[in-house]
Amino acid sequence: ITAIRGSVRESAIGKTKTTDKADRATVEQAIDQNTRKILYKMLNKGVFDAINGCISTGKEANVYHATKSHGQELAIKIYKTSVLEFKDKGRYMQGDYRYSNGCGKHNPREMARKWAEKEIRNLMRLKAAGIRCPTTSCNLRRLHIVVMEFIGKSGWAAPRLKDAALSSDKLREGYVEIIIAMRTLYQKCKLVHGDLSEYNILYYEGHLYIIDVSQAVEHEHPHALDFLREDCVHVSDFFKKHGVAVMTIRELFDFIVD
Ligand code: ADP
Ligand code: MN
Repeated sequence: ITAIRGSVRESAIGKTKTTDKADRATVEQAIDQNTRKILYKMLNKGVFDAINGCISTGKEANVYHATKSHGQELAIKIYKTSVLEFKDKGRYMQGDYRYSNGCGKHNPREMARKWAEKEIRNLMRLKAAGIRCPTTSCNLRRLHIVVMEFIGKSGWAAPRLKDAALSSDKLREGYVEIIIAMRTLYQKCKLVHGDLSEYNILYYEGHLYIIDVSQAVEHEHPHALDFLREDCVHVSDFFKKHGVAVMTIRELFDFIVD
């Protein structure tokens, strides 16, 4: 594969830079035959010109850095299609009317497609509401792959909030920005993230970007308010730990839903 090259190097501050000093085999190995075929089709359609390396390997998905010839950078999130990966997402899926007919519940390939499709839809809803998040386009459906805007520059992925080492002023601004985004997400998008924390927020050019929205639920989901409360706790804990004077969980929760 000429289009898939590079490897990954992580620095102490959590930035990730794809390099050419490649272990090509490592990148290729992680991508199964079927996925590779789809990536070739995308390559031929001009969705991207090269995959340069892996930004993140996770339990449920890997994220790769890709470029187009004119230098535009993309993040490509590929959901894993093996059986073991999806067992604990059930708590989000149940009760979401958009995905509740249960078809393919036991088919990991189908599940991977559903998570990818859900992530694309939710990202578009966030974007439409003016929440900072990666831009996606809807013309790639029925795949276990999410092609989105790369948050970062020149192969350097923006750090997660966890790794961003912000000044106290920036932290304070970040807190205000994220609680407003949480309110907008609830009020305008009618969604609860469900896994919001310093791990799923990127810090880029002075702003916070919400990512990883595949498990976000409609606010009619039977556990939506439980998930929202957890999101409030995780966000509050992070900023409190870093010295920001935060609202109580109750105040934050009420600010979001009222
Ligand atoms: P998961 O947590 O399910 O593995 P995420 O969507 O959180 O998947 O992505 C994993 C990591 O990949 C993120 O923490 C972030 O570092 C990186 N990442 C994901 N999407 C992007 C993006 N659009 N731009 C830059 N980096 C990204
Ligand atoms: Mn994540």
